[in-house]
Amino acid sequence: MKQYDAIIIGAGQAGGPLAKKLAEAGKKTAVIEKRWVGGTCVNDGCTPTKTMVASAKMAYMAANGGPLGVKIKSFSVDLPKIKKRKDDIVHKFREGGQKGLEKTQNLDLLFGEASFTADKTITVKMNSGREKELKADLIFINTGAKPFIPEIEGIDEIGYLDSTSIMELNEIPEHLVVVGGNYIGLEFGQMFRRFGSKVTVIEKSGRIVSREDEDVSQELTKILEAENITIHTNAITTKFKKKTGGKINITLTKNGKEEKIKCSHVLMAVGRTPQSRALNLDSTGVKVDEKGFITVNDKLETNVKGIYALGDVKPGPAFTHISYNDYTIVYRNLIQKQELSIKDRPVPYCMFTDPQLGHVGISETEAKKRGIKYKVAKLPMTYVARAIETGDTRGFMKAIVDPDTKKILGATVLGPEGGEIMTVLQMAMMGDITYDRIRYCVFAHPLYSESLNNLFMSLED
Ligand SMILES: Cc1cc2nc3c(=O)[nH]c(=O)nc-3n(C[C@H](O)[C@H](O)[C@H](O)COP(=O)(O)OP(=O)(O)OC[C@H]3O[C@@H](n4cnc5c(N)ncnc54)[C@H](O)[C@@H]3O)c2cc1C
Repeated sequence: MKQYDAIIIGAGQAGGPLAKKLAEAGKKTAVIEKRWVGGTCVNDGCTPTKTMVASAKMAYMAANGGPLGVKIKSFSVDLPKIKKRKDDIVHKFREGGQKGLEKTQNLDLLFGEASFTADKTITVKMNSGREKELKADLIFINTGAKPFIPEIEGIDEIGYLDSTSIMELNEIPEHLVVVGGNYIGLEFGQMFRRFGSKVTVIEKSGRIVSREDEDVSQELTKILEAENITIHTNAITTKFKKKTGGKINITLTKNGKEEKIKCSHVLMAVGRTPQSRALNLDSTGVKVDEKGFITVNDKLETNVKGIYALGDVKPGPAFTHISYNDYTIVYRNLIQKQELSIKDRPVPYCMFTDPQLGHVGISETEAKKRGIKYKVAKLPMTYVARAIETGDTRGFMKAIVDPDTKKILGATVLGPEGGEIMTVLQMAMMGDITYDRIRYCVFAHPLYSESLNNLFMSLED
């Protein structure tokens, strides 16, 4: 049994940097990782998808240069090359992270699967086959989440893809059906449509990205349908059947009626589930909610003093920047003796469809639900000079404001560089820069953000 000051389970977006900082602060630290340093973001999530999204954008531009006077007669998509570029970037990020941990003094990096065996006691089934027992007063769980696969008749016989395995394909699917019309499913759907697949999205809600405002869903639907992506909403997938010759038959119920779709590949993108079960949390008394997420207080501590949960394994928004912020909160509270909390922190995010969907703060739907006094400023991208000049006027900017204080309460930007424009508004929100000031701010011309002047001109006072 080896005693440490701190043990971190999972070298994800919080675990890696936290391990390093705790060790540097003089705590004898162990970090346990069952797979690869960097976790989902680096190996299966943000990094690989965004490198592939960049290739898809290139293909889209090659196919759509005509209106800008550049006609590319023919081009081809080399998926093995796209995959190799993705793998090279992922390896570089992963190795950088691993080396950083390995060279940190006071820190042991153990490759193996951790589970609790008693109070604050952990057994690691090392990838080398041996077992190790560790103990510490401070334990940080950063084990993330994995794709959730629902039980649907026939699902196990069709060799479905998930968000990880789809990025290992070497051949472009002839017809990809994406089950789930949310962030992950739509990024992949558009990507493979641009690579040349026929793409169909099946969404059980009444609209795609159903957590967004209705006008956002509608505009995004229009954008994706313009690229010939077929979208079925109010559609529940009920059955899969593998046919001879490798084709897959899907049965779905749409608006109460049964329909059938034949395709070559199925991507399951209906959500993610926390990696908490293998931890055997009962043996240390840590509580989870009904979906298996580890419940925490505002300082990320579980019901057991000294055991914390960070990132996607706890309930709430599942993003890399949230996991990373979790680490900085825990670190500053424990080492710098601050009193920081996750309550009221901004939760910005960006979906990397093209155009991007950036969002921060409250939406119009939430404002309505809360019954607060609000006004909506909205500007279609067709009114944005930069968008007209670059030839991409899809989408709009939208902000929810408080008419009395003139503060910005939330913003959604669906448009080219939507994430970056949203971030400008986030900075305004954090600095309490009111919309009547932004209306007259001097921004460089002709940037997308310059049009924030016009966005707030659309409000009457
Ligand atoms: C396809 C896709 C695209 C995404 N795109 C974005 C994006 O653009 N922007 C964004 O912000 N977020 C994105 N995300 C989400 C983002 O990747 C996650 O929110 C983020 O990685 C969460 O990090 P984490 O620190 O909670 O855990 P993770 O990064 O998942 O790390 C958890 C680690 O714990 C290890 N582990 C698990 N159990 C054990 C155990 N018992 N013992 C030892 N080790 C264990 C795992 O192997 C893993 O390495 C995307 C996700 C996916 C799947």
